[in-house]
Amino acid sequence: MNYTFEAIGVIRSPYREKFGIPRQPSLVSAARVTLELLPPYNHPDCVRGLADFSHVWVHFVFHETLARGWQPLVRPPRLGGNAKVGVFASRSTHRPNPLGLSLVELISIQTDHGVTLELAGADLLDGTPVLDIKPYIPFVEARPDARGGFVDGPPPQLNVAWSDHARRQLAELAPPPRFAELVEQVLAQDPRPAYQDDPLRIYGVMLYCYNVRFAVDGENALVLEIQRQNQN
Ligand code: SAH
Repeated sequence: MNYTFEAIGVIRSPYREKFGIPRQPSLVSAARVTLELLPPYNHPDCVRGLADFSHVWVHFVFHETLARGWQPLVRPPRLGGNAKVGVFASRSTHRPNPLGLSLVELISIQTDHGVTLELAGADLLDGTPVLDIKPYIPFVEARPDARGGFVDGPPPQLNVAWSDHARRQLAELAPPPRFAELVEQVLAQDPRPAYQDDPLRIYGVMLYCYNVRFAVDGENALVLEIQRQNQN
């Protein structure tokens, strides 16, 4: 059976590439993301009553990776990148139908020009097509006693420090509000691939138009430099 779906909205996000995006929503609360509804869904009637909910489910397409297809077994980063689990036991982006599902906090809804939702803590790439939005209903969906399989509990975090150079750049570049907090929360998640542990290696994470260069030694990440890139 085949079904065709149309995007009802598009995500605008500080995450401009996959590397560095947290592996689940809510891990990086400083990430401010907007969801712009597309015509004909950008009418205030479509979101009437939604602002009374604090959280929403966002159904989206893993548009950046859909060309890569899927495998029955995947290696979740949480298991160190070696052990395999079934695709349906994972939140891998490589699925038979490349559909993502994120529970995010709804900060506000703007209905002056079309409809835009402001969301916090999303794990979504800039430009992600959104297929649906549903309110989160805590009394049926909050299950604190549920078993979390191989992802029981939050991942270990890195300590994040700034070099003097990076701290000066932060003051000079005047990046968007909460940029430093965003950098700290993103790096604390340890974006490196599971099998890499080289203190001399320098990584770069793109946030907005800034390439944030950093290195990791043991449990400590150090922000080395912030490079402004020539994109929006
Ligand atoms: N909460 C979602 C996503 C889990 S996978 C779910 O469970 O379905 C999380 C990863 O999705 C992020 O680390 C990011 O690299 C990736 N991602 C986010 N938006 C994407 C997109 N539009 N296309 C491909 N991958 C995306």
